[in-house]
Amino acid sequence: MQGNPVFMQRAIALATENVTSGRGGPFGAVIVRDGEIVATGANLVTAINDPTAHGEIVAIRNACQMLGTFQLAGCHIYTSCEPCPMCLAAIYWARCEAIFYGNCAADAAAAGFDDAFLYEEMKLSLDQRKIPIVNLLPEQAISSFEAWRDRAGRIDY
Ligand SMILES: [Zn+2]
Repeated sequence: MQGNPVFMQRAIALATENVTSGRGGPFGAVIVRDGEIVATGANLVTAINDPTAHGEIVAIRNACQMLGTFQLAGCHIYTSCEPCPMCLAAIYWARCEAIFYGNCAADAAAAGFDDAFLYEEMKLSLDQRKIPIVNLLPEQAISSFEAWRDRAGRIDY
């Protein structure tokens, strides 16, 4: 699988411009389909007070809006940095078909953006995690799944 350096250069430029403009962190992403840029994104966490507004997430949201879909089949994502666990999951949920990254996770950690603890956290059993995660009312919660299962005309995803 080979990436197009032009698209990575765009992602890197978005990341750097995001810093020099004072908008946010050094992260940019580009979504490409059929050799064309569909959408771009840059980190907006502090700009819009949204901890989920990582560059990849912003790019995915923009691409889905642009294409009028919730799945990015046939799309590749170019991101200036190896995705964190949240973005990696979002990329999988969006069904992007390839990921190209510039900086690696170690580069990000050296710049003060260390997400290794999240990868480690996910390997732990629930009772060992840092944030308490507690099962509550499972016998009532299951009714949502029953409603979904019985829903005619639902949009599977
Ligand atoms: Zn991320």
